[in-house]
Amino acid sequence: MKAYILDLDGVIYRGSSPIDGAPGAVNRLQDHAEVLFLTNNSTRSRSAVAARLSEAGIRCKEHDVITAGYAAAVYIRKRYGAGTVYPIGEAGLIEELKAQGHAISEDADFVVVGLDRDLSYEKLRIGLQNILDGAKFIATNTDPVLPTETGFVPGAGAIVRALETASGQSPVVTGKPEPPIMDIVLEHLGLDADECTVVGDRLDTDILAGIRCGMRTVLVLTGVETMASVERSDIKPDCVIQSIRELLVAPGRR
Ligand SMILES: [Mg+2]
Repeated sequence: MKAYILDLDGVIYRGSSPIDGAPGAVNRLQDHAEVLFLTNNSTRSRSAVAARLSEAGIRCKEHDVITAGYAAAVYIRKRYGAGTVYPIGEAGLIEELKAQGHAISEDADFVVVGLDRDLSYEKLRIGLQNILDGAKFIATNTDPVLPTETGFVPGAGAIVRALETASGQSPVVTGKPEPPIMDIVLEHLGLDADECTVVGDRLDTDILAGIRCGMRTVLVLTGVETMASVERSDIKPDCVIQSIRELLVAPGRR
């Protein structure tokens, strides 16, 4: 394998704490292959994610990180050019939108929704008004929940659903498991899909994204899924391991 594409929440972190043994496992992986960090979480910018990983002792630069916020910003720029965006999201999403040349406005051509822990009725109202006025509705991801050290918290998908219900429209989703973010990943790495392994904790985002584009897939059980949910699902990873710590246990798998 030339590259490993690692999800963050539930693989490397649980909430704000690194998962036991994860930093060492990632650094060992980096000795053998290229490592890209790929997250549907849009709350932090790429540089903030890189800084956080570095703090946890993981070798990482901004260039090694792709977030769903970045993917949404790049998707809009490549498809439509720089535009006006009303974001429902946190600082990391807004930073990535601005970095791709988009202007932030309450009267916008695009409504981009990510996780927003300061969500308000007023934000939903402005988002809805823009969509009803013809703005394109874009979701960074539709993850229903986010695993934290104290259990699950509502994910971006819960916010997206509120706007979907109000507007009667479905968004274009740019994050995993949809193609926009995976197209960006492959272009970024300059590799073919069969040279890449996706490592994630969610079947319906990480693993499905990898399967859809022809990558090898590894599920870890430190996040959302359990052996029971794996058995129930039609989405079958190539390999299930307890934790990212086990990733290099079998060198032949590289
Ligand atoms: Mg995850």
